[in-house]
Amino acid sequence: MKQPKAVPVPCQETDPEIFFTDVNGLSSIYTINTAKSLCQSCPITQQCLDLALSFGDVWGIWGGKTRLERRKIAKQRGITLSKYYANNKGINNE
Ligand code: SF4
Repeated sequence: MKQPKAVPVPCQETDPEIFFTDVNGLSSIYTINTAKSLCQSCPITQQCLDLALSFGDVWGIWGGKTRLERRKIAKQRGITLSKYYANNKGINNE
C-alpha cells in the first residue's frame, strides 16, 4: 500500500526558536512576525492551530497565532484551555 507523502512545513526548515521566543520572555514583534509569516505559507495552518488548542494553553506560535490570539479563538469556540503549561515557572504569559 502506498503511504501518503509527507508535506514539508516551514517550521521544520528553520530555527525553531523563532516559534518559541516567548518562553524566556524574549518575545519581540520581529520574531513573532517572522514566525507568523512562515505559518502563512504552511499547508497545514488550520490543523496546527486546532492541534495547539487541543493541547491547552501552550506557548509559542502555532497555526500562525500567538498564545493570546489562541486564547481569544478558544473563547470564541467555547473551549476551556488547560492551564498546565501556563503554571510552569519561567513562562512568559505574553
Ligand atoms: S502552521 Fe504550524 S506546522 Fe505550519 S509552519 Fe506554523 S507552526 Fe509550523
